[in-house]
Amino acid sequence: MSPIPEFRADLHCHSSCSDGSLTPIELIDLALSLGLSGLSITDHDSLHAYPEALIAAKEKGLLIIPGVEFSAFHGKKSVHVLAYAFEPGHSAIINLSSRHEKRRQERNESILNKLKKNGMPLVEEDLNLQTHLRTIGRPHIALAMMKKGYVNSIQEAFKKYLGDGKPYFEEGCRISVEETLEVIHQANGLAIIAHPHLFNDYSFVLGLLNLPFDGIECYYAKFPHVEQSKWLKLAEKKELLITGGSDFHGKNKPESMLGSSWINEVHFMKLLNHYQKHQ
Ligand code: AMP
Ligand code: ZN
Ligand code: FE
Ligand code: FE
Repeated sequence: MSPIPEFRADLHCHSSCSDGSLTPIELIDLALSLGLSGLSITDHDSLHAYPEALIAAKEKGLLIIPGVEFSAFHGKKSVHVLAYAFEPGHSAIINLSSRHEKRRQERNESILNKLKKNGMPLVEEDLNLQTHLRTIGRPHIALAMMKKGYVNSIQEAFKKYLGDGKPYFEEGCRISVEETLEVIHQANGLAIIAHPHLFNDYSFVLGLLNLPFDGIECYYAKFPHVEQSKWLKLAEKKELLITGGSDFHGKNKPESMLGSSWINEVHFMKLLNHYQKHQ
């Protein structure tokens, strides 16, 4: 088979099922209009884009792999774990996603209580929940705070109140990276370290790789070339899968456009073949 010219697949983006602004179908249409050949929608802790996204992508002629970005902890550090090519209907991964939903409900309630006690009340309507399928996160709360005039920007909300370690941040129960990897593998998926550069700590990433990760996100948003080659070198040395994507959130984070980062056909097919083998 001759290679598809300019095959590009974006494996990291968020839909309105978590904190992105486009619906899964709108994301698929945008991917096609940008000339992408492959996509994975990786909502925070949520599988709600699937299986509808799989059906729609097939109808519209876009290659798609199931994906999700799990929030996890390694010690006290927050780690995002990308899962790909799992069986979206597998009970283990559905259960993990439901546990996250419950964790978020408790955590968000607690954040809203703290805000209320400090003169910044928000009610459910302020969060502008378009659908019950949504993973509610801090970006939704930050946006509501801005609309109410409590802060001038989403950045200010994170910087003063909601960012990690800030006074109104509520972590909720911690789900470990180990447990997350176990579930992903039970569902026949592949586990990838998301945006490793955000740790600013190469040895921490090396430590994470003592766990059974399958790959590293080596291409990310507007990564400088030197950053990409660092992670590509590590993935090759450890014989790990190479993934990448834009981390597109739509208008909620306009600086990173869908397709601004992508992987080629060779890397994509490794994941797609794994997925097809287990269906
Ligand atoms: P949560 O999933 O509720 O813990 O919220 C984490 C999400 O908030 C991340 O995935 C980012 O999209 C967003 N976020 C984290 N820090 C900031 C920040 N300083 N400014 C804007 N958005 C942020
Ligand atoms: Zn996000
Ligand atoms: Fe992330
Ligand atoms: Fe993300």
